[in-house]
Amino acid sequence: MSSLYERHRAVMPEWMALYYRQPVEITHGEGRHVWDADGNRYLDFFGGILTTMTAHALPEVTKAVSEQAGKIIHSSTLYLNRPMVELAERIAALSGIPDARVFFTASGTEAVDTALLLATAHRRSNQVLAMRNSYHGRSFSAVSVTGNRTWSPTSLSPLQTLYVHGGLRTRGPYAGLTDTRFIEACVADLEDLLGHTRDVAALIAEPIQGVGGFTSPPDGLYAAFREVLDRHGVLWIADEVQTGWGRTGEHFWGWGAHAGSGPPDLLTFAKGIGNGMSIGGVVARAEIMNSLDAHSLSTFGGSPVTMAAGLANLTHLLEHDLQGNARRVGGLLIERLRAIAAQVPPVREVRGRGLMIGIELVRAGTDRADPEAVTAVLEAARAGGLLIGKGGGHNTSALRIAPPLSLTVAEAEEGASILEQALYSI
Ligand code: PMP
Repeated sequence: MSSLYERHRAVMPEWMALYYRQPVEITHGEGRHVWDADGNRYLDFFGGILTTMTAHALPEVTKAVSEQAGKIIHSSTLYLNRPMVELAERIAALSGIPDARVFFTASGTEAVDTALLLATAHRRSNQVLAMRNSYHGRSFSAVSVTGNRTWSPTSLSPLQTLYVHGGLRTRGPYAGLTDTRFIEACVADLEDLLGHTRDVAALIAEPIQGVGGFTSPPDGLYAAFREVLDRHGVLWIADEVQTGWGRTGEHFWGWGAHAGSGPPDLLTFAKGIGNGMSIGGVVARAEIMNSLDAHSLSTFGGSPVTMAAGLANLTHLLEHDLQGNARRVGGLLIERLRAIAAQVPPVREVRGRGLMIGIELVRAGTDRADPEAVTAVLEAARAGGLLIGKGGGHNTSALRIAPPLSLTVAEAEEGASILEQALYSI
């Protein structure tokens, strides 16, 4: 009888990578913990890639899903759908975007694809700006704004994309500048680029790059970009698939750190809002959302079961101030990790905010990425009972820490101790 791993390899695509030399089959979870098929318990500091946002097996979400499933699972967007309208109303109000309209999809990729469709149709141009080291999804259009080589399997594209400086603070030609000078240099680069192009539709950017290793520019960069973009009529799409719903602690959306000139024109979301149910979506001002002059729908977008989950999850998040928890517990965790890192030479940088923390590893004494060390720390953390993620450009050079937002101080402390051991073991 073949193992599940052997069966997986025989039937799944090779490019869909699995973590760990001996991959884990997660069978159930509760709170911030998950269990594997051998009965091992892990503290979960990755939440299935920032998707289990509040907690595993959150009773309110489980109840909402089963109750809705018992009533009706699917009706389609051809009929009125109460949970969809209710979740759209709440997201529109939370988005900060005036006269907001919401369109639901079944994934982050489709949300990005929709935002690109809207922006390019509205502006009547297929020229788009994106950030170096970005990740926006796996479809043909999302890949064509993904500036991270590891995740970009083709250069063929429906868009003309130009990549802008700024997403990576501590690498690249401007790394040595102060924050103010860094922003000035990136803005000057953007001005220059727009001077050489015509009718660019939009800039798409993650306020904190997720797959890119939790890297971000200094606060205010996108507000400074906004002034330039506005002058050229270029729309700003904030891809909040990882940074939304309070994960960054200080702000409900990642764009909040760049709020100088108001909310983005379009905002994409996915991952955490459904706590694992497949919800993605895009928010845009009515004028932009309504600019399509043909019909469009998503068969699964807005399905009643996912919407019921989203409503229950969002209610729990807001009623328990999990954004505040992310700020407090994330603040303690990052401080603790910085103290540990100061003793471990391969750590180049501990970065991030709230419960979105990246640790970049290099070969000791050099500035060269060390993906083997990243993999070794992942393995050692797992052996110690902790699941974390990895990412980053430069050959996957960063550990990624993004637990459910209900993380307790004791769990943060426990996870940090396991990570400390793992870092010392390499
Ligand atoms: N945008 C960002 C910023 C993401 O991190 C991701 C997923 N990692 C996506 C879009 C695509 O989302 P999905 O995997 O749900 O298609």
